[in-house]
Amino acid sequence: MAEAGSFADRVKQQADIVRVIGEYVRLKKGGQNFTGLCPFHGEKSPSFAVHPVKQIFHCFGCGKGGDVFTFVMEMEKCPFPEAVRMVAEKCGIAVPQPKERTPEERRENQQRSALVEMHREAQTFFAKQLDATPEGRTGKAYLEGRGLSNETIARFGIGFAPAGGDALLRVLKPKYAEKLLVESGLISRDQNNNRLYDRFRRRITFPISNEAGKIVAFGCRAMGDELPKYLNSPETPIYSKSNVLYYMDRAKEPIRRQDFAVLVEGYMDAIAVANAGIGNVVASCGTSLADAQIKLLGRFTKRVIVNYDPDAAGQVATERSLTLLLEQDFEVRVLALPPIGNKKADPDLFIREKGAEAYKKALKEAPPYVDYLISRAQLMDLSTAEGKLRAVNFLLPYLQRIPNRFLRSEWATRISQQMRIDEPVLRAALRKAADERRGEVKTQPELIGKAAKPLERRLIRLLVEAEDFRRELALRLQEDRLYEGLETEKIFAALIVAAQSDLPMQATEVASLLADRDRRAFFEILFEPTQTPSWEEAESCLEALKRRRLEQELGQLQREIEANASSPLLRELLTRKQQLMKLLSAQSNP
Ligand SMILES: [Zn+2]
Repeated sequence: MAEAGSFADRVKQQADIVRVIGEYVRLKKGGQNFTGLCPFHGEKSPSFAVHPVKQIFHCFGCGKGGDVFTFVMEMEKCPFPEAVRMVAEKCGIAVPQPKERTPEERRENQQRSALVEMHREAQTFFAKQLDATPEGRTGKAYLEGRGLSNETIARFGIGFAPAGGDALLRVLKPKYAEKLLVESGLISRDQNNNRLYDRFRRRITFPISNEAGKIVAFGCRAMGDELPKYLNSPETPIYSKSNVLYYMDRAKEPIRRQDFAVLVEGYMDAIAVANAGIGNVVASCGTSLADAQIKLLGRFTKRVIVNYDPDAAGQVATERSLTLLLEQDFEVRVLALPPIGNKKADPDLFIREKGAEAYKKALKEAPPYVDYLISRAQLMDLSTAEGKLRAVNFLLPYLQRIPNRFLRSEWATRISQQMRIDEPVLRAALRKAADERRGEVKTQPELIGKAAKPLERRLIRLLVEAEDFRRELALRLQEDRLYEGLETEKIFAALIVAAQSDLPMQATEVASLLADRDRRAFFEILFEPTQTPSWEEAESCLEALKRRRLEQELGQLQREIEANASSPLLRELLTRKQQLMKLLSAQSNP
């Protein structure tokens, strides 16, 4: 809850919910709202809405809803204070130093900031080496040999880790405890003699930043044939390789703008592609893409061109990534670059040899993933029944993962045609497998708000929107308890409480008083089109509620009269009935 006057409250007032949610969901303006595909449940047509004025979001499909903080908490799976901090940062609002609640938290925070600071220092050190020492200059010559200009080297923060074994250690050791040095992954401890030494030696260093642009790890490449060719930071308190995509901090804007991303394998590839003027590129920097990385990417686009290395490992990685991307409903194309001479081409080599324009053209022409898979399957021996079966078995898992049923059947037909597999048995197998695709998330929109009568819905919106007379209206509703017995009774009760405060009405504050079902109904109602509130309208709603109340009483009375036909109470009841009738007719003809 954002308490009035608190930092969270200030952030909420200043934050633009459309912009913040827009970082995660592609939103389109429609009427007074923005709509998009719900990030919380799988869907094909948008039922997720954001209200810029009321500063709330609501999904008409799965029913999730709330304010900007609820949204970030759900998306990032983080606690409230963290969500407040993130929203503040996204909106450029200065965050006061957080008060950690436990010594444990304080220790962890201090450790994390020390590790980030240590990486910043290491980065400065590595970058300096390229010009500072003879061996650093060999590193630089190596980079130049790979076509990297000074400007590119500086832009990507590329550096050099000296061979000595304690060069970085000597820089860091005076400032940090040994334990922290080892935890950073930059320094290792020799198990035999307990001595510390630099993890990265005689290697080109590439800083790896998290999404916020803070360096949290290094990827390091051997200059010669030393093994391993790539040596990266281990998992540390600030770095988990499955959560980070290389270059994401800078690629996210271009990705969102162009609504697609190019996914490559290594940092050299990402650098080459970005250098060629294609800024919407990220690298997975690992053998295969992790779920968390796909989720991260999915916040910015659902369209991706996979351009992994053409070697066997790259193909396996491509195919594994495809599976994951398809499961997350990505629209995937695959770029398999043609060999150059007798060399298999990765993006880096291709761009160096053929130029940026040729690469852009290849990207444009990259085929949908199914075509890529068919061409892979066609390389198998299709002359025998077993060979064909193997090819079909290779394709089946992908086919099964196509979320859209029509697309799936279209591709099934296409595969059987292109593979010349028209045996009815195989076609049936394809279809059967395709139909057995594991359960899609189905959430039928069940509009709860519609259960409320138009009159109630209008009154609810008036209570939220009519700043001038909300208080008066709430008093009138409360006086006669006119809302009692309504479907929306609980919503009214919460609104009446909120209307009595002098603070501006906040939809989420009201919602926090409601059970989930009522909250959903309330939000659905808030997304109905706004009309200018008028007191006349409010009064006529009140009158209608009074009439309803009288009619109910009358009905009740009539039942009592029938039950007491021969009782001494009858006279009294009949008198009461007459009074009610009079009131009702006065109501109808004021
Ligand atoms: Zn939803």
